[in-house]
Amino acid sequence: MARSFVGEARKRVGPKRERIVPIIERLRAEHADARIALRFRSDVELLVSVMLSAQTTDVNVNRVTATLFEKYRRPEDYLAVPQEELERDIYATGFFRQKAKAIRGTMAMLIEEYDGRVPRRLEDLVRLPGVARKTANVVAAELGEPQGIVVDTHVRRLSQRLGLTRHDDPVKIERDLQRIVPRADWGLFPHLLIWHGRRVCIARVPQCPDCVLLDLCPSARI
Ligand code: SF4
Repeated sequence: MARSFVGEARKRVGPKRERIVPIIERLRAEHADARIALRFRSDVELLVSVMLSAQTTDVNVNRVTATLFEKYRRPEDYLAVPQEELERDIYATGFFRQKAKAIRGTMAMLIEEYDGRVPRRLEDLVRLPGVARKTANVVAAELGEPQGIVVDTHVRRLSQRLGLTRHDDPVKIERDLQRIVPRADWGLFPHLLIWHGRRVCIARVPQCPDCVLLDLCPSARI
């Protein structure tokens, strides 16, 4: 019964390849302000912010980096203090020991192998200590060279509800999205889903009657 209901809903909205562009266009119009919420002024600050954002909120990271980035301006600055001092300076973001170790390791590699600059290519970014694929994807996209699609909890939930993937594993979801989302939108697309997920397609109670994707969504409830 449930299966046939899902099948009917999918038939009603049509194939995902035909829906994806209207979905992006409507979300772009609805959330014109959708962008990364982290505050940074340089590539290095971007990388550090994204590394600090694991397991905490962007608001919390911004609070910490407002003073952190006055003290640490170049990769060398993170290595010029004892690790314990950096741990204290990022304490409020949680997991401060692992994060401090990862940041120092990353800064050392930037200096030794990349002339103190943040690399653009995903395969270089994931070599940096403590930089996983999701972090690398966020950084590459913000540097204007998206090479993948960031899948966080909102992107996963909305991709499933919108019938863009049947998977639960972020790597498989990313692969499904890469097949249908136009490459030029790889950087923006996650921001659109994240903002829509925070404002309308909320985890516990999606606000379907107020949703601009109502006729394009197989999970719509009215
Ligand atoms: S119609 Fe409902 S379930 Fe579908 S995207 Fe909109 S809020 Fe989410």
